[in-house]
Amino acid sequence: MDRINRPALTDRLREETALFATRHPGSAAQARNSAAHLLTGNGMNWWRMWPGGFPLCIREGQGAEVTDVDGNVLVDLCLGDTGAMTGHAPKGATEAIAASLYKGSSFMLPTEDHLWVAEELERRFGFSHWQYALSASDANRFAIRWARMATGRKKVAIFNHAYHGAVDEALAELDESGAVVPKAGNIGYGIAPSETTKVVEFNDLEGAKAALADEDVAIFLVEPALTNMSIVLPDPGFLEALSEACRDRGTVFLMDETHTISEGYRGYTGTHGIRADMIVIGKPIASGIPAAVYGFASDLAQTIESRYPAPEDEDALGIGTTLTGSAVTLAAIRGTLEHVLTEEAHRHMDALAEHYEAGVKSLFADLGLDWSVIRMGARVEFLYDNTNPRNGSDVLNSFKDYDLNAYLHVALLNRGFVLTPFHNMALMCPATTRAQVDAFHAAFREILEPVVGRD
Ligand code: PMP
Repeated sequence: MDRINRPALTDRLREETALFATRHPGSAAQARNSAAHLLTGNGMNWWRMWPGGFPLCIREGQGAEVTDVDGNVLVDLCLGDTGAMTGHAPKGATEAIAASLYKGSSFMLPTEDHLWVAEELERRFGFSHWQYALSASDANRFAIRWARMATGRKKVAIFNHAYHGAVDEALAELDESGAVVPKAGNIGYGIAPSETTKVVEFNDLEGAKAALADEDVAIFLVEPALTNMSIVLPDPGFLEALSEACRDRGTVFLMDETHTISEGYRGYTGTHGIRADMIVIGKPIASGIPAAVYGFASDLAQTIESRYPAPEDEDALGIGTTLTGSAVTLAAIRGTLEHVLTEEAHRHMDALAEHYEAGVKSLFADLGLDWSVIRMGARVEFLYDNTNPRNGSDVLNSFKDYDLNAYLHVALLNRGFVLTPFHNMALMCPATTRAQVDAFHAAFREILEPVVGRD
């Protein structure tokens, strides 16, 4: 039964959208003036999708707060959709980045940080060999190429409704008949993904085994939990069994930890001791400087190195870009690992996320809302229904309440809280405080109560 009072929601959404425009004249002017100069009116096309009609224009961020051009200070629970899981301008990393910039940032040659970072990544995540990239999308693209080289196969497997970035092979989904089709909204693709990609529902071990059975899949890109469609957790034993099935069929099993790094200091893979051939970590790994790292298990690294062309034959195209592994990127990763994403920081983030989760659950209980709240370490999502989702398709309906979504996000922005748009993710950073989470709970109650219908 719909527990939302729809007429009240319509009124409130109108009021809050008007209030948003009144409170943010500077951001509105930036958006208006950008229309003639920036394609889609934004420096990044997705920003159009922010609720409120235009995105906030940010002046600065410190820790868990951002200040917009109108001087509004907001608690940031979006944290750049994980890009700022470190908090904004975290001291240890920012100092390392600044120092590096004064010493030159791009040499196309290693610095001592290349080795330090690889050793630290091995200590933390357990993979013996590492490469750098400028984004998780890049890392996934390069991983696919390495896996094709190592296996001599072409196909890629993914889960339905997983997201791995701007990766042609991964922008695919299942249609109602179970056929592989381009993901909805996939702009300008060149090759039908049915030619490159097999798509399986998350938590469907038999489906995954069937996809692997022809032994033509080079790599299975695996988000340990789906995190771009709320959070869909793996069934107990699912990832272990999938890892085994990949090993049996000679498919590279890659854990894309770009979001699930929120699970803890060692990521999901390390925390749960999952055997994987490769791992990708992007977004927060360099405290907001564009960077990603990807690791290889030693047997895969040996296979690749044994097939790597001799220097006289080498023309290594398709992997790596000019600024990849630049001095400033590595200084940023080192600063982040050494000073920001520490074990202690993860403990703090975890405890706060638990507090956030408990508060949201008790609010829903008080209002008689049978809605799910799902946590993965430092990140928490809520859904507008009580499904305990097992795959991405299970959560599609909850995403389609566009008015409720728009209302909650805009009303929260008006009260000084940024929740991750397009879904309802809140992320804690090392600088987030209990007082900020308590204030969120109070604001959320104030917003939700008036639109919940009474029985
Ligand atoms: N992998 C996962 C699991 C992601 O969620 C994302 C982005 N949301 C990416 C890869 C791509 O990251 P980026 O956009 O930074 O390249």
